[in-house]
Amino acid sequence: MEEKPQHGSLGGLVASVREAYESGRTKELEWRKAQLGGLIRMITEEEDAIFDALHDDLGKHRVESFRDEAHVPLISFPCNALVVPEPIGVVLIFSCWNLPLGLALEPLSGALAAGNAVVLKPSELAPSTAAFLAANLPKYLDAMAVKVVQGGPEVGEELMEHRWDKVLFTGNARVGRIIMTKAAKHLTPVALELGSKCPCIVDCIDSQACIAIDYILVEEHFAPFLIELLKSTLKRFFTEPEYMARVLNERHFHRLRSLLEDHQVKSSIVHGGNADPKTLWIEPTIVLNPPLDSDIMTEEIFGPLLPSITVKKTEDCIAFLKPKPKPLAIYAFTNDEKLKQRILAETSSGSVTFNDAIVQYGLDSVPFGGIGQSGFGQYHGKYSFELFSHRKAVLRRSLLVEFMFRYPPWDEYKMGM
Ligand code: NAD
Repeated sequence: MEEKPQHGSLGGLVASVREAYESGRTKELEWRKAQLGGLIRMITEEEDAIFDALHDDLGKHRVESFRDEAHVPLISFPCNALVVPEPIGVVLIFSCWNLPLGLALEPLSGALAAGNAVVLKPSELAPSTAAFLAANLPKYLDAMAVKVVQGGPEVGEELMEHRWDKVLFTGNARVGRIIMTKAAKHLTPVALELGSKCPCIVDCIDSQACIAIDYILVEEHFAPFLIELLKSTLKRFFTEPEYMARVLNERHFHRLRSLLEDHQVKSSIVHGGNADPKTLWIEPTIVLNPPLDSDIMTEEIFGPLLPSITVKKTEDCIAFLKPKPKPLAIYAFTNDEKLKQRILAETSSGSVTFNDAIVQYGLDSVPFGGIGQSGFGQYHGKYSFELFSHRKAVLRRSLLVEFMFRYPPWDEYKMGM
């Protein structure tokens, strides 16, 4: 049932979700299977409505929207005689606007598989997707144990006044700090899925770099060839405007434009640079060697701008990355096995992907999440189940046998002397 984001009404909503959890039904295997089945049915039956919502919010082409669909992990029961997974309880999930469906349903499916009751707070910046989730999740799931609360930061802050058993937050680090501070009041554990500047080391070209990479590091003799290749690829990919999702809103449009306004950055543009405020369209733009202390090199870009930084030797990339905050991902296009080993051994990041980009997000067999300033708490596939479960240590002992040496009075014999 959709809940209106009115102040004062959230206490009742939170209490009713906790009541559903306390009833014990969310722990039942049948309930968990039914919720996951409901999610799968919703994604299948409401496919057109999902495409419409993602198109309304982000101008996403249907083909691209497929990548935003959540994969529902299989229920697993990693249990032996001593470790029993139990649900953590009542979980609050904040999702973000850039993959508004996947970033909501992926953690939701993990929380349900583990038997939790959930309140989902989708991003107000993707309102059509938020409305879709609020209208449809109650139809397909247990509407008492799973609720959607729509609204902006003030609703998020109000939700955080209540006690949760776990909070998963996807968004920016500034809000992540607010979430963590508020969670501390109730000693609520949090998982933060934040952003970062994901570097891409390019040492060879056998494949195509994706523009979601934050910046490129490339050896100097190879740089001119790479830039020409990127330019021709961009021209080939984006022949029609509808092949590119638009920038989310005016705030992000101006933020991205202002990254290019620094005169040294502007003079480093080697491709693109055009923008249309009416349609919030920004041309895919390549910037060659902008100053390393410029905003475009110190802030996460999160848009179609791609700085390329030239280094003397590819190996220098490692020294370049070491002092930087740990990113969510490091990409490297290389056939050099020694370089691969050095990247793995000498850098730290949420993930490392060789010779491809972004695909690690879609793999359920590996954990997804950041480290350091890019966040903490990994999920996807069985890792979602683990994130939302408590591994309860259970010791079973028989009462049939007793050893008196366990008890005082102690003597040398009992101490084995
Ligand atoms: P956003 O605006 O969608 O905010 C995320 C959620 O936080 C929303 O539900 C929003 O309503 C809520 N919120 C905002 N202010 C709040 C407050 N003061 N108190 C409580 N809740 C509040 O997202 P954004 O901030 O534009 O996020 C973009 C960032 O998210 C980028 O840095 C990006 O890299 C990161 N991101 C990370 C991942 C990941 O999986 N690690 C995925 C997507 C995006």
